[in-house]
Amino acid sequence: MQLVILDRDGVINEDSDTYIKSPDEWIPIPGSLEAIARLHRAGWHVVVVTNQSGIARNLFDSDSLVRIHDKMRRSVADAGGLIDAIFFCPHGPHDNCNCRKPRPGLFLDLARRLRISLNGVPAIGDSLHDLHAARAAGAHPILVRTGKGAAIPDTCVTSIDVPVHDNLARAVDDLLADNQNDNASN
Ligand SMILES: [Mg+2]
Ligand SMILES: [Zn+2]
Repeated sequence: MQLVILDRDGVINEDSDTYIKSPDEWIPIPGSLEAIARLHRAGWHVVVVTNQSGIARNLFDSDSLVRIHDKMRRSVADAGGLIDAIFFCPHGPHDNCNCRKPRPGLFLDLARRLRISLNGVPAIGDSLHDLHAARAAGAHPILVRTGKGAAIPDTCVTSIDVPVHDNLARAVDDLLADNQNDNASN
């Protein structure tokens, strides 16, 4: 099975310092929905792994999160794509849970539920926390320069030694190109 793991805020949709609290505040990053559709057409499964501490902070409740995710799934479907599953952490930074990135709990939960190894599975995120969580779970972290990724200094990006792309669309170009090369050499 070909699987890619995506962070949500700052990768699929525009990030917000005031949190995404309602479907209206969920705005896709240009090209991201089409990128997920291209993955789907190429046979990839797409799973979203996201910290949603706004729940612990009482900024929105789990019903609102369900409605936000309904909008995301519908928007992706309208573009011709599919999100196979969404794993989220509802806790805050002081709850000391194992699922909030940079901890790998959500990734490990996903691996257990799908009964797969995350070895080499691409995990695309916009923050260093995403990269650390992915790496700790044995996945293959990839950074995009949208969302929080736009503010990471170049010197820091070079030192973390992961593939870097302008946005999800460019990261997907790269995944699908690698994939074609693999198929050609098989
Ligand atoms: Mg993010
Ligand atoms: Zn958690």
